[in-house]
Amino acid sequence: MANTAASTFSLVFALALGLMIALRVWLALRQIRHVQAHRNTVPQQFADRVELAAHQKAADYSTVRTRFGLILLAVETLVLLTYTFGGGLQALHEFWTARLDGLYYGVALIFSVTLISSLIDLPFSLYTQFVIEERFGFNRMTLKLFCLDLIKQTALGLVIGTPVLLAVLWLMAQMGSLWWLYVWLFWCGFNLLILFVYPTWIAPLFNKFTPLDDAPLKARIEALLARCGFATSGLFVMDGSKRSAHGNAYFTGFGKTKRIVFFDTLLGRLQPAEVEAVLAHELGHFKHRHVIKRIAMIFALSLGFLALLGQLMTVAWFYLGLGVSAQGTALALILFFQVVPVFTFLFTPLMSGLSRRHEFEADRYAAVHASAEALVQALVKLYEDNAATLTPDPVHSLFYDSHPPAALRISRLAASSS
Ligand SMILES: [Zn+2]
Repeated sequence: MANTAASTFSLVFALALGLMIALRVWLALRQIRHVQAHRNTVPQQFADRVELAAHQKAADYSTVRTRFGLILLAVETLVLLTYTFGGGLQALHEFWTARLDGLYYGVALIFSVTLISSLIDLPFSLYTQFVIEERFGFNRMTLKLFCLDLIKQTALGLVIGTPVLLAVLWLMAQMGSLWWLYVWLFWCGFNLLILFVYPTWIAPLFNKFTPLDDAPLKARIEALLARCGFATSGLFVMDGSKRSAHGNAYFTGFGKTKRIVFFDTLLGRLQPAEVEAVLAHELGHFKHRHVIKRIAMIFALSLGFLALLGQLMTVAWFYLGLGVSAQGTALALILFFQVVPVFTFLFTPLMSGLSRRHEFEADRYAAVHASAEALVQALVKLYEDNAATLTPDPVHSLFYDSHPPAALRISRLAASSS
């Protein structure tokens, strides 16, 4: 009985994995074909704003990254299959269960899986940063900084991750059949705490934040903030240029600890009116409560997933179907987090669609409270600086893109300013 259910689940998982791979490959090939087919002409709408060379650079950058994504997909699949059907997780379980028990066993098992994944990822992130980003002129990182970041991230992961993992495994073992509810409450509390301490304690470990001291720009931004009724604990410039030439601006924190952070790379490139428009867009996200909505949605989804895990953890076919003959809290956690993305992949377009709707709302807000034309200029510059393609494949974009294609955003902004 358990074996029939297990083989059925194996089959369902294999089919879902096959479907995900087929979709990802199909979308990637569409994207490459579409971008390359439009490589030699700047779209009419951008003809007087974007040079052909910049357009071609964006096409090549996008093609190289998409192709590299296919290699990553192959590696990811191989790792997943090795852990499950290949018996990798079973072997790790046997290794640790002979040496440790209880919470120690669980922590050791999860840390070894994390360590193995990080080691496998390492050559690929090195290649991304020092070959792909370098080739297109975006890399500003030295190998020394890369290693330093890695050491800091690992230390931070251990310091924060160990107690969290211990707490989760303890709750799973001690709280009976409703453990998932306790883990969920703990998880939400932990995430809110991280959101709260991130700007002041964690981000400064990786970057320097200096108060914005450009007086005319500051005055301009403060006027915008007053117009929009927005209170902040400060405007900061972050030294993003020490890692990458890509530019950005964002908010962090909550309530009174809210900070606005500009990448130095963004300020170096945009005119004051354009910075104002980009910030107005970010304020739009805030005023439309996009951040709160997103957090609420993630919390609701994680409750659903934890409840599901609560059921799966107790049935033998879940483990057996994924190539593990033992059962337990740590094993269930690992299998669940390996396997769930395969099934949730199909919902990617829903999340991307929601995100794109939020982008349009934020653009509309910016058009009302700042200048739509300045935002268009800023967007064109940012697309160019990030070598983001102006001609994505429509299906690929519909599926993945968190931001609407440039052409669509700009034509809506142009319509709102005229
Ligand atoms: Zn946005």
